[in-house]
Amino acid sequence: MKNIILIDRDQPAYKGNLHLHTTWSDGRLPAADVVEAFKAKGYHFISISDHDVYARTDEFDTADFITLPGTERGELNPVPDKNPGYHFGVLDDPTVEPELPRYGHLEQFPTPVPWVGEASPQLLIDELRAHGNLVVFNHPEWHLTRFDDMVKYDGFFAVEIYNHSTEWSAASSYGAAYWDHALQNGKRVFGIASDDSHTHEPDWKIPEYGGGWVRVQAEALTQTGLIRSLKAGRFYSSSGPEVRDLRVEDGELKIACSPCKFIMFKAFPQRGPFIGNFASGKPLTEASMVIEPDMTYIRVECVDFEGNVAWTNPVFVADLLD
Ligand SMILES: [Zn+2]
Ligand SMILES: [Zn+2]
Repeated sequence: MKNIILIDRDQPAYKGNLHLHTTWSDGRLPAADVVEAFKAKGYHFISISDHDVYARTDEFDTADFITLPGTERGELNPVPDKNPGYHFGVLDDPTVEPELPRYGHLEQFPTPVPWVGEASPQLLIDELRAHGNLVVFNHPEWHLTRFDDMVKYDGFFAVEIYNHSTEWSAASSYGAAYWDHALQNGKRVFGIASDDSHTHEPDWKIPEYGGGWVRVQAEALTQTGLIRSLKAGRFYSSSGPEVRDLRVEDGELKIACSPCKFIMFKAFPQRGPFIGNFASGKPLTEASMVIEPDMTYIRVECVDFEGNVAWTNPVFVADLLD
């Protein structure tokens, strides 16, 4: 079995939020203020993902903070006015040569997107990709999307598995079951935690932003560096804990994390092991498991004492076999 390093304790990891809103759609603060709000929280990058308007904002980029061009496309709804419809996170991918022109700054998209039957979400995903974008299946739990959609539709590179705004406002934020459904049906997709923040009010006792993020290991803090790593799964998602190291070594998957109450190896189809601190009561900061050749994927969740979670991306066991 091959040895690989998924998260390297000796390499830099950049913190970012891939989903938020400004006054370009229904957010409360202008983009420049939102940039300052995230800088003040120690973030290295954000994507300004306003509803149905593209943001391409090099002017905010500095040596230690960048913005990734993108948008959130939506208003694609089989039942008008009865549910919020499909929303897709959209990130400009500079590593591909698109068939159609890239979207420009403040380019507006017509809404609603007409529903033309079950193929409608696929048509929208394909259109976004043709213009040189990565696509994220946003907040499936909040939308109450059908599990089957994870299998039926293709071309999204990630599922939004934690959306802080819908946890903060409606306790409906965890999409990891959708992610597992995709993975169990052979999809190679990653999990993304984000804020989906709209107000960015710094004084609220229960913050509406800074609650869900990704940590990306990249060679440099550039758009190309971050997107290349996102596409390769060289990142983890979190609402609190840190993943400090994740590697396959001598047939074992080994993780190191900030102090946690649980470290759970979600190995499919074997399910575990799930490790808790019941006996010692002490924080867990590392764990390992033996990888079996008949496992298809293994992902790890670390849960801290407040119930916050760090989610690693999956290790695909077939990739490890010689
Ligand atoms: Zn949305
Ligand atoms: Zn949103």
